[in-house]
Amino acid sequence: MLLRNSKLMISKIERGKETTKNHINRMNYKCPRCDWVTAFLIPDEPKYIEEIHAKRGGGTLYYPGIEEWAKDRYAKAKLESLGYM
Ligand SMILES: [Zn+2]
Repeated sequence: MLLRNSKLMISKIERGKETTKNHINRMNYKCPRCDWVTAFLIPDEPKYIEEIHAKRGGGTLYYPGIEEWAKDRYAKAKLESLGYM
């Protein structure tokens, strides 16, 4: 499985008068052989998620570079057939 992207999110759960905020790193993975995609929602400490957010220059999304995906031979073959390499 290859990391496609990661998105930092804050989910709010309202129960009656109480609101709970969860800081989540959503990691999306894709199988280079069959193109199956899955996502893991990983809750973490707000401070840690904010640190990652700052390292992304204030953005919420991170995409690995194409050269990172091309380390997998199946992904590399697909990228080449699509003209990306
Ligand atoms: Zn697969």
